[in-house]
Amino acid sequence: MKLIVVAALAVCALVPCVDASSSRTTTVAWCYNEPACNSSTWSTLFPLYCNGSRQSPINIMSANATANASLTAFGFQNFNNKSAMTTVQNIDNTVRVTLGSGVQISGGGLSGAYDTLQFHFHWGNGSSVPGSEHTVDGKRYAMEMHIVSTKLTYNRNITLATQDPTGVAALGFFIEPMSGNATNSPASWSNLTSYLSNITTEGSIVSVAPGISLDDLLVGVDRTKYYRYLGSLTTPNCNEAVVWTVFKQSIKVSSDLINLFSTTVQFANSTLPMTNLFRSLQPAQPVTTQPASSAATVHCSVALVALVALGLALIRG
Ligand SMILES: [Zn+2]
Repeated sequence: MKLIVVAALAVCALVPCVDASSSRTTTVAWCYNEPACNSSTWSTLFPLYCNGSRQSPINIMSANATANASLTAFGFQNFNNKSAMTTVQNIDNTVRVTLGSGVQISGGGLSGAYDTLQFHFHWGNGSSVPGSEHTVDGKRYAMEMHIVSTKLTYNRNITLATQDPTGVAALGFFIEPMSGNATNSPASWSNLTSYLSNITTEGSIVSVAPGISLDDLLVGVDRTKYYRYLGSLTTPNCNEAVVWTVFKQSIKVSSDLINLFSTTVQFANSTLPMTNLFRSLQPAQPVTTQPASSAATVHCSVALVALVALGLALIRG
């Protein structure tokens, strides 16, 4: 009998269940680091969406990405605002930075404007054990930054947005170690990572002082070159509500700063460092990208003009 009770309690700790005392639904346990709740279990523990057919992340095969002329440049509103970041916290098995209102994205083939709510990170174990979620042609990058936005209609309500197949727009940026022996660079990343020592334990949260913008963190990336596909949240409940944009160029950050993520912050109920925060790859989805460089078109046009000119010359001659 005791065994049955213990077993029932154990199940209750892992799957959605109602707290009998208050009749509210308790938070569901999922994790990256334990066999009972790591990403291989999510399709079983959270079958409603994690077992779906447009799940993320995926491996992007660059040669299979088809041309899509609607993938125009984005508009990034308030990405240059050095006071937009409000807090940084250790929550939901990641480091999350929350943004104040007024930060938005539009264009980029999206159906309209989206409010940008937060960004967070996925990483492996230091700069030498990569931990991006998406991979490109099988390559896994050191880290991946996800900037999460929701359709204006939902007034920053993520619960409503995740019920719409295109309610969430996520921007994925790969992060790679800088070449050479640079340390503590770029300055924007030095500033951001300086907060990590204040949020070592799960649930801890601190304010971000004005001084760095999203543009500062996205230094060096050509934001007109990206992949697009329809997928899901990469953590439970894995809602299939995400328009994914994965940028081709990576952000270059010095190895010492990349290493701070996997050595400073800790998992919930643990003094273990937070490492290998990425979901296993999911089945491929159709991916699109910008049509081939306009330079090729220019060359063709020049050749065509030359041929016409030659033709005219021959006729006149
Ligand atoms: Zn993410």
